[in-house]
Amino acid sequence: MTKIKYQTVTGMHDVFGREQIFYDKVEEVARKIANFYSFQKISTPILEDQDLFIRSVGEGTDIVEKEMFTLKTKGKDLLVLRPEGTASVFRAYLENGMQSLPQPVKLWYYGPFFRYERPQAGRYRQFWQIGFELIGDASPVLDAETILIAYNLLKDLGFKKVVVNINSIGCEECRKDFKKALSSFLKNKKETLCSDCKRRAETNILRILDCKNPKCQQILNEAPQIVDYLCPDCKNHFKQVLEFLEEIEIPYKLDPFLVRGLDYYNRTVFEIGFEENKEEEAIGSLIGGGRYDNLSKALKTDFVPAVGFSMGVERVVSLMKLKEIELNLKKKQGVFIVQVGDLAKKKALRMMEELRKAKIDVFEAISKDSMKLQLTKANKLAINIVLIIGQQEALNNTVILKDMVTGKQSTVKQENIAKEIKKRIK
Ligand code: AMP
Repeated sequence: MTKIKYQTVTGMHDVFGREQIFYDKVEEVARKIANFYSFQKISTPILEDQDLFIRSVGEGTDIVEKEMFTLKTKGKDLLVLRPEGTASVFRAYLENGMQSLPQPVKLWYYGPFFRYERPQAGRYRQFWQIGFELIGDASPVLDAETILIAYNLLKDLGFKKVVVNINSIGCEECRKDFKKALSSFLKNKKETLCSDCKRRAETNILRILDCKNPKCQQILNEAPQIVDYLCPDCKNHFKQVLEFLEEIEIPYKLDPFLVRGLDYYNRTVFEIGFEENKEEEAIGSLIGGGRYDNLSKALKTDFVPAVGFSMGVERVVSLMKLKEIELNLKKKQGVFIVQVGDLAKKKALRMMEELRKAKIDVFEAISKDSMKLQLTKANKLAINIVLIIGQQEALNNTVILKDMVTGKQSTVKQENIAKEIKKRIK
């Protein structure tokens, strides 16, 4: 028989073992923050209508032009594996009548997203994102709250020297004039731009600003800056956001080239990273977000202002490992059951269920017969209380309770075991 070697699809990866513990930690920190700032969790389907992303993320963007996993159903509908979370959450807000709730509606999500990208460091075809969205309110204080939450997320995960890069891309009106100015600035320089930017100059000129190609960056040093083109309302909005950030002492850097790649953004856009960003340069930004009051218009619905951000979990986890951030996991509190003999196995199974009902965590190696092997596992898990059921104990319904720290052991009746353990576990 020729054996077949199975492997994950290009750009996708399994998460398990220690890696999964990191992912769980990131999710736990996000959940705590979400609870503190009163966000409700939302889980939307992985598949959405293709049209949702074409309208929202925008036609000239990399995501829509090159990166969507599209599939045609038997009924000939065009669906995509969601490439990002904001459009889905916003669709859910509209579809489920959340406009009638007190505004803003605060929602957070955690799940897998899909982009058909060239796999490289920090860039996967399936990746996990955590996102926070505040929908239904245009106030600048919410831009600041969103940035604060994103900042706190990285701080609570244990990162140091976190800094916010921020810009305002104004509204459609401010951008009209700015695009004209940028276009005339680039007029005689198009030939020196990279091939992507040559295309962007025709389809989505703003995106040239955040091109990472050194040649393009050099040209842009002299380019007009969008903040100089903001209308009075947008200027005032941005000023207020920055004042709120100063009030809560969030370190920020103005970045005139930050525009973010998606069409729905307006006014505040931001990315969060580190003061020295060598690692980030290799893997890309960790957190990106902004205000997206334009999304409702793109989806042809009533005006609904909103602001939010998302964080890439793969990138965060790889930096947590790189920066040797401790997981500070709680020590395992529970008992390990060791059994020897067939009758003891049966008693051990029954005891596991009783302890589960008593809300005591149980660890075991129930399929194993060797006492040595089971004790080694208990040791590895660093569990302080071991319950041993040998043949004798199985017969007279007792159990040996061994305290692994003091080495002391006593024989306890099986019916009293939960009570005995609770006395010892705080
Ligand atoms: P975006 O929707 O492009 O702003 O992405 C939000 C965050 O998701 C980024 O800041 C990254 O941390 C992460 N991210 C985006 N694309 C990928 C990818 N292909 N692989 C891994 N993480 C990604």
